[in-house]
Amino acid sequence: MTNPLLQTWHTPHGMPPFDDIKTEHFLPAFEQAFAAHRVEITLITTSDIEPNFNNTVAAMERSGRLLEQISAVFFSLTSTDTNDTLQAIETEIMPRYSAHFSAIYTEQALYQRVNAVYSDRSGLDDDQMKLVEDLYRGFVRSGAALGDEQRHRVQSIDEQLASLNTAFSQNILGDTNDFELLLSEGEVAGLPDMVKQAGADAAAAKSQSGYLFTISRSSITPFLQFAERRDLREKIYNAYTHCGNNNNENNNAEVLTSITDLRLERATIMGYASHAHFLLDERMAQHPDRVTELLDEIWQPAIARAKQEADDLQQCIRDDGGNFTLAPWDWWYYTEKICKVRFDLDEETIKPYFKLEQVRDGAFNVAEELYGIRFTVTDTPVYHPDVTAYEVAERDGTLIGVFLTDYHMRASKRGGAWMTGFREQSNMDEAIYPIVVNCCNFPKSDPCLLGMDEVRTLFHEFGHALHGLLSRVRYPGQSGTSVKQDFVELPSQIMEHWAIEPEVLRRYARHYETGEIIPDALIEKLLAADTFNQGFATTEYLAACYLDMAWHGVLEEDRTIESIETTAMNDIGLIHAIGPRYNSTNFQHIFASSSYSAGYYAYIWAEVLDADGFEAFKEAGIFDQQTAASFRTNILEKGGTEDPMDLYRRFRGRDPEVSPLLKNRGL
Ligand SMILES: [Zn+2]
Repeated sequence: MTNPLLQTWHTPHGMPPFDDIKTEHFLPAFEQAFAAHRVEITLITTSDIEPNFNNTVAAMERSGRLLEQISAVFFSLTSTDTNDTLQAIETEIMPRYSAHFSAIYTEQALYQRVNAVYSDRSGLDDDQMKLVEDLYRGFVRSGAALGDEQRHRVQSIDEQLASLNTAFSQNILGDTNDFELLLSEGEVAGLPDMVKQAGADAAAAKSQSGYLFTISRSSITPFLQFAERRDLREKIYNAYTHCGNNNNENNNAEVLTSITDLRLERATIMGYASHAHFLLDERMAQHPDRVTELLDEIWQPAIARAKQEADDLQQCIRDDGGNFTLAPWDWWYYTEKICKVRFDLDEETIKPYFKLEQVRDGAFNVAEELYGIRFTVTDTPVYHPDVTAYEVAERDGTLIGVFLTDYHMRASKRGGAWMTGFREQSNMDEAIYPIVVNCCNFPKSDPCLLGMDEVRTLFHEFGHALHGLLSRVRYPGQSGTSVKQDFVELPSQIMEHWAIEPEVLRRYARHYETGEIIPDALIEKLLAADTFNQGFATTEYLAACYLDMAWHGVLEEDRTIESIETTAMNDIGLIHAIGPRYNSTNFQHIFASSSYSAGYYAYIWAEVLDADGFEAFKEAGIFDQQTAASFRTNILEKGGTEDPMDLYRRFRGRDPEVSPLLKNRGL
């Protein structure tokens, strides 16, 4: 029996042949890919020729292609269309996957060769120099420079962490799928028709009658905004905050304790004071103190504003005849009421102007205007019927990549929104164009009308996609979004600014039934409302950043989840009416993988850059061709070939400033 994962793919654009790939193909394919990669690495380490850039560093860049291909398909399916079998394979493969790479990056013969190239790297091109330096650091940070005993301990920690990260994520999915709030007609008072319809559709999808709400963010947010029944708001809010913390088989308490213990142990072995010190050494911020400084600088005005907002909401409760103290599950509901009175604006007035397909075309149009690239629907294999594929071409027709959109939610897909891909751009031995994917969790309804947060999310992920699509580098290891964690959100977050520029809104925001362009009065209200509730939005996010830093900073011996959470929130003075965006047990960003651990701050770090960077566009004109060309060549095309602060300075002509961020948030 042939395994399609191991064949050459003669499909349009070399897309994986999804229809032929069955779950039973993955394990044997992984086996072969691991083995093939081992052989490639052995050829490098056993070479009799003196180590040089080409036979060691470039050879490593050429190795592991099969494994990369298979992994891209596998991890795409486990996050977008998973099932029990795939989850079981994931549980089996993750520790082996981690062990495989850990073995390579700690292999002494390989490290010696890389070290030799690193020690004599003069004369290399700039991108090669950066590649060698990053690779050398990668080896050191994996433990290659440690003695045998410590090195093996680090390898074992890495493997254990890989399993624990997977368990954390699967527990969240488990608790999310277990919780159902099935309501009758009498219990959904206050919910607008569209929200009720989504609830009815969700119930029908599970062969139930009534209205079904879950703790996925797209279900819980409108419920908290509109549901009149305070007890039901409390119920769903508490279910959300207790996700992963229900004393059932999905309990994350022990999982996360083990994760943080192991991370701390690894950091200590590496000679760092904490996991945060260890990780930040690899980021733009470089040190936990610089992160805390930035968080504190924004926290002060944000919490002051949040307290004013809380007073307004309490007043609104009294005016409404309520005789209770504002609680976290009241915040969205009364904010919506105030918003409606103050701006005469509610989600249901806005949404008809933001039909998914039109918002998507609006994003495409911005990219065309800025960078001269075009998106055309194309027929290729895709992994799910909800996915659409586009060819992306320069103005002169040169193909630069393929872009897939997977916008709708389904039970087999994890929550949130993200960018991923099946192939990265590179130009080492031949020009390879990228295949980039955007995943979101918009309701599966027709028409699919988006709220402003969802509009921003679409533009955000599209910004990541452009980073992948417009990449123009030589080595795959430096391609597109392969940049420092606190830099990667710049291209995505800067795109959000175009989404609400009046000039852009008038192009894409048209009423889905009448085709009417969004009225100027509504645009004005949207812009006025943009700084509304920013005290809350900023503090709930920053509180999660502080929590992340607390878990990964220098830890007390007798810590518990409760003590960490309470201390972190007391230290900053978070008010009771606001909870951090994530509690420890459902904080996927920092515990389901290592990439955002001690790194949740990266969004606001990058927001300093995107707010300051967008000022450059506003100064010259939001579609100014020279500014766009500079952003493209200095940021989007460069991937990880240079230090990000150097790239930013070359685009902006100076260091970034914090003031545009505070101004945009109205703080
Ligand atoms: Zn992002």
